[in-house]
Amino acid sequence: MGELASGDLLDRLPNVRGRFIPNQPMAQLTWFRVGGPADVVFIPEDEADLAAFLKGTPEDVPILPVGVGSNLLVREGGVQGVVIRLGKAFAKAEAEDQSRIRAGAGALDVAVAKAAATAGIGGLEFFVGIPGSIGGALRMNAGSYGSETKDVLVEATALDRQGNIHVIPLKDMGFSYRKSRAPEGLIFTGGLFQGTPGIPEDIRTRMNEITSSREATQPIREKTGGSTFKNPDGQKSWQLIDGAGCRGMVHGDAQVSPMHCNFLINRGKATADDLESLGEEMRRKVLETSGVELEWEIKRIGRKAAP
Ligand SMILES: Cc1cc2nc3c(=O)[nH]c(=O)nc-3n(C[C@H](O)[C@H](O)[C@H](O)COP(=O)(O)OP(=O)(O)OC[C@H]3O[C@@H](n4cnc5c(N)ncnc54)[C@H](O)[C@@H]3O)c2cc1C
Repeated sequence: MGELASGDLLDRLPNVRGRFIPNQPMAQLTWFRVGGPADVVFIPEDEADLAAFLKGTPEDVPILPVGVGSNLLVREGGVQGVVIRLGKAFAKAEAEDQSRIRAGAGALDVAVAKAAATAGIGGLEFFVGIPGSIGGALRMNAGSYGSETKDVLVEATALDRQGNIHVIPLKDMGFSYRKSRAPEGLIFTGGLFQGTPGIPEDIRTRMNEITSSREATQPIREKTGGSTFKNPDGQKSWQLIDGAGCRGMVHGDAQVSPMHCNFLINRGKATADDLESLGEEMRRKVLETSGVELEWEIKRIGRKAAP
């Protein structure tokens, strides 16, 4: 698709019951608080509305599903096409029986952990510490404290680019470290998760331990994207970054967190370019000092600002 003004793009989109927001600054939809506008953001009313939108949208219009933007670095030039953000209709998290929780892709991971605790379902406590949505967890195989999404998922539900519904069993999600090999164009709408029956009080105690531990070791109240780089096999990124002398390093208003040096933070006025350039500088220094090429875990998306 060529460059289109949002108005021209809106003319090419089908009638929906949900909301189209033209020129939505992505900075407002991401934890880093940086990023230019999406041509259009679509908030579907429900799954049928999302399916009808996908069916009726010309194939050449780029579509990008996002969650709550806790793993996204959006560049200043913004995002071409339509960004889909799942709202309230996709945010339910309910116990199906004594060991399973069904959650919409728009539900926050923390809400799923809490719903599981209330229902006396253990094993999903690790979700309490991940500030994303279930859609993001399914795409990223989110995990912490020894558990990952792949350890608890039974099946995901998704719509393809044509609006057809798919139920994807765990074995077809192609999960590995912070990654799913499920086709890129899929929009996850929910997941069914398996835990084990437990005592709500014990489950909550474990959740509180995780929360306290994170507050002590990670800058979770900053404008950040979480772990910037994946841990290379058998090594810890933060140790390599520390060893390369990057802790606390700054570029503009972007900084390598002094608290946890695999986290980048926006100290207030950083641009996406400041953050990305600082990340690339860290990669260069780590390569020089240890020979290891760090791989971005944060998803960098969108166009660079015009020079
Ligand atoms: C303070 C902090 C701590 C963090 N700690 C952890 C941690 O311990 N463990 C961990 O794994 N991560 C961690 N993260 C990273 C992040 O929270 C996870 O990657 C999370 O799963 C991202 O979810 P999201 O909803 O924010 O997705 P987004 O950041 O919005 O998107 C991430 C990716 O998922 C895709 N996506 C989102 N929704 C859908 C959908 N419905 N269908 C298809 N694709 C979709 C997007 O296209 C994008 O590729 C942390 C982040 C922060 C800011």
